[in-house]
Amino acid sequence: MSDYLEPLVVGEYPLPAVEPGAILVRIERATVCGSDVHGWEGAYEGVLPVEKPLILGHEAVGVVAELGSGVAADSLGIPLAVGDRVVWASETCGQCWECTVLHTPTLCRDRRLGMLEPASKSPHFTGTFAEYCYVRPRAGRLRVPDGLPSTWASVATCAVRTVVNAWDLAGPVDADSIVVVQGSGPVGLFATAMARAAGAHRIIVIGGPRARLDIATAWGADDVIGVEDTSADERVETVLNLTDGAGATVVLEASGAPGAIEEGLSMARRAGRYVLIGSTGKGIQTISPYKIVNKGLQVRGSFSGDIDSMHRAMQFMLVHRARFDWDAVIGSEYSLDSVTEALEAMRSQRDIKPVIVPAAST
Ligand SMILES: [Zn+2]
Ligand SMILES: [Zn+2]
Repeated sequence: MSDYLEPLVVGEYPLPAVEPGAILVRIERATVCGSDVHGWEGAYEGVLPVEKPLILGHEAVGVVAELGSGVAADSLGIPLAVGDRVVWASETCGQCWECTVLHTPTLCRDRRLGMLEPASKSPHFTGTFAEYCYVRPRAGRLRVPDGLPSTWASVATCAVRTVVNAWDLAGPVDADSIVVVQGSGPVGLFATAMARAAGAHRIIVIGGPRARLDIATAWGADDVIGVEDTSADERVETVLNLTDGAGATVVLEASGAPGAIEEGLSMARRAGRYVLIGSTGKGIQTISPYKIVNKGLQVRGSFSGDIDSMHRAMQFMLVHRARFDWDAVIGSEYSLDSVTEALEAMRSQRDIKPVIVPAAST
C-alpha cells in the first residue's frame, strides 16, 4: 500500500537472506483485522510509527520455508522443522525498561509492528497479506497445535490473543460478575466467549448488525442490545435495568465507536473495571471524569498481546471448540489480488473475518 485508501497493488520484492534466529514463512492463511482497515485508512498516522509503503496484514499462519541458523524449536521448546505451521508475534527489543523491568513486551518502546514498517526496505516481507513473511530473530514463534485449523490459528494471532491480554488486565470473572461487552466485532465476540467460559453471572453484548448479535447469543451472551435502533441513553438505561440499577462489574470497550467510552463509563458499577481495547486509532471522545472518580472505577487500556497470550488464545480455541462454533466468524476467501475487496468487506461488516489465501498456497 503506497497511499491511504488507495486500492492495494500486488508488488514483488526479493526474498531476504534469513539471519540467524529468524524464520522465513510461506503464508498459508491470513485473516483481516480491524487494525488493517484502520492502517489502510491512515488512522495510525501520528499515533504509531508508520512508514509507507506498507504490506498490511498481521494475522496469519505460515508454513516454515527456511529456518535461520540456530532455530531448532519454537518459543516453548517444541521442535520446529521446514513445513511446520507456525504463528509469530511482533519482535520486541528485550532491552528497554518495559521489556526488562515491567516484563510487558506489548509495551516495548521498540516493538516492530510489521504492517506499519516500510516494505521497501529489507527484509521487505513485513506484513502478512503476502506470499511470504519474515519472522525476525527476537520475535516469539509457536508451532500451531495439530487439530487447530489454520483459519482459527490465524484469528488467534491477533483478535483472540488481544482478548486474552484484555481479560488479564480486566481481572477475574466469576459467577458473581456481570460483564458488558461494547462491540460485536471479532474482539467483542471472542471476549463474550471467554467471559462465558470463565463462568460470568451475566453477559450483556452491545453491537450490531443482528447476525453478529446472534453469534454473541450463541457464544454465551444473556442479553444483546442493538446499536442501530437505540440511543446511548436507552442502552445505558437497559443495562442498568438488567443489573438492578447497579451496572456491570466489568465493561470491555471493543467497538471503537465515537461516544462509546462515555456510554461505557455509565454502565460500570461502583468499583467496576473498564478496559479499553477498541479505540486504537486517533480520535477524540468527550467523557465525564466524575463517573470514574465518583464510582471509583479502574480504567485500563489494553494494547495487543504477545506470544504468551497467543499461546493461550490457541489453547482456548482448541479446548472450547465443541462449545463455540469458531467458524461462525470466518468469512469469505480472497486472493492477494483482491485484498482491497477484503478490507472493504471488513469495513462494511459484510465479513467478520475475511480470509486471504495467497496464490502460492492454493
Ligand atoms: Zn523493549
Ligand atoms: Zn489486529
